[in-house]
Amino acid sequence: MSEMLTSYDPQTGLAVGEVELTAPESVAAVVERSRKAFTEWSGLTHAERRVHLKRLKRVTLEEGMRIAETIRSETGKPLEVAYSTDVLTSLSVLDFYLRKAEKILRPRRGGSWPYLSTKGWTEYHPRGVAGVISPNNYPFFLAMIPVATALAAGCAVVIKPSEITPLTGEFFAELAEKAGLPTDLVQVVHGGADVGEALTDAPIDVLAFTGSTSVGKAVAARAAKRLIPVVLELGGNDAMVVLEDADIKQAAQAAVWGGMLNAGQACTSVERLYVVDEIYDEFMAELDKAFDNVTVGSDDRRGIGPFIHAPQLETVKEHVGDAIAKGARILRGGRQASTDEGLYYEPTLMVDVDHSMLITQDETFGPILPVIRVRDSTEALQLANDSRFGLHGSVWTKDRARGAAFASSMKTGTVAVNDVAVNFIIPTVAFGGIGDSGYGANFGEDGIRTTYCYPKSITSARLPVATTKLLGAWQPRRGVAYWRLIARALFRW
Ligand code: NAD
Repeated sequence: MSEMLTSYDPQTGLAVGEVELTAPESVAAVVERSRKAFTEWSGLTHAERRVHLKRLKRVTLEEGMRIAETIRSETGKPLEVAYSTDVLTSLSVLDFYLRKAEKILRPRRGGSWPYLSTKGWTEYHPRGVAGVISPNNYPFFLAMIPVATALAAGCAVVIKPSEITPLTGEFFAELAEKAGLPTDLVQVVHGGADVGEALTDAPIDVLAFTGSTSVGKAVAARAAKRLIPVVLELGGNDAMVVLEDADIKQAAQAAVWGGMLNAGQACTSVERLYVVDEIYDEFMAELDKAFDNVTVGSDDRRGIGPFIHAPQLETVKEHVGDAIAKGARILRGGRQASTDEGLYYEPTLMVDVDHSMLITQDETFGPILPVIRVRDSTEALQLANDSRFGLHGSVWTKDRARGAAFASSMKTGTVAVNDVAVNFIIPTVAFGGIGDSGYGANFGEDGIRTTYCYPKSITSARLPVATTKLLGAWQPRRGVAYWRLIARALFRW
């Protein structure tokens, strides 16, 4: 009899369903089946693939409420949050590729200066089978991003969802079947680290990993043995900066929304808030008011939801305790919520914070907003950039040009001016981190072109004589003086 993986509701601790566990030793065979599907899928034209992907979008829309309810049951997050941040966002990613994939993947000609006797272009070919390892915090959207990108590129996919949210992961198999996608084009394997490792070792052609920095590093080291490309979407410690000419009320509301989003369990949540001295008191008064918009729980419309799994509570307790021991003061919250059910933590506002504390150095991943008072924009930038992570940042100023310049100076893969966490839902701009936040592109133009496709350059001689012959390279013993002459002729201008 097969072993089962049970999923639990973090609000009640009760089982909500189960799926069949995949034996690690069977994962390679699953990938081989996907390879057959890849041959069929990659042989289709874009127009033919679009017919399938359109059906996938339609069934995702039709099943949207069931998906959101399942996410709610496994993560405890409010239904409205599950629908808007997992289902709606996934539809927008699918929609993006339906509209743009063919255009983005058209061969590109870049000219061949100075070797004009040759023309050249770059084609984009699907790599093969993509492995997708996804986390528990946005269990549908964060799997859909690589799945949709890989499918639009012409790849097949094998997904290993988080073992905390397997029921949500199982939807990919169901939706693929309902949409009539080719058999085995989208497969799901279930389990924990051992199944993730088996997928990393299996004969996949590219791996998309979204999860914690520590696991991401281990996955990258493992994948390096087979030299497959890996995209790593890892943790963040994102800074938000409020300058003296900001819209104070809006910035305060955004800080609370961005910090408490999904109970802080978002890679792009506001983890550190820097406020310039000149407006600090006024801003803090607005921030205090904005905290009234959030509360403990999942049912109240202001409820921020629980921790999705228990170990997160321990990390948050450790970070908060460390900050208090080093002189931080709690203005709101600061403790586990006194509810009988669920792993809830009170929305927390903390001041007198500095960079000696874990709360500013590590990813806390909880509903904590630590505020740091800074002299001016120079100090704000210096502290915002003092991090080993570099995923997202946010800067607030009514002067858009100033905001753009500040954003350019932030050491992160993404920055929002006068907004928070928005980059992730806009597929037309790049998304990815630097430093301990990872590398590579999972979606958008860069993701589809260079992660799920490999670029192939083709050159073709324009003249009856090959360029290398024309240059004289075929002649023996031209001598270095000849090549210096060519170099001067071509490049001295
Ligand atoms: P996690 O690292 O614990 O797990 C992620 C996935 O990796 C799960 O499917 C898990 O089963 C699998 N896994 C665990 N050990 C493995 C191993 N040895 N080999 C292969 N796979 C293995 O992360 P989580 O708790 O699910 O998610 C939270 C983390 O994800 C946070 O750090 C968050 O910042 C990060 N995250 C990043 C992004 C981004 O886009 N940068 C987005 C969302 C979440």
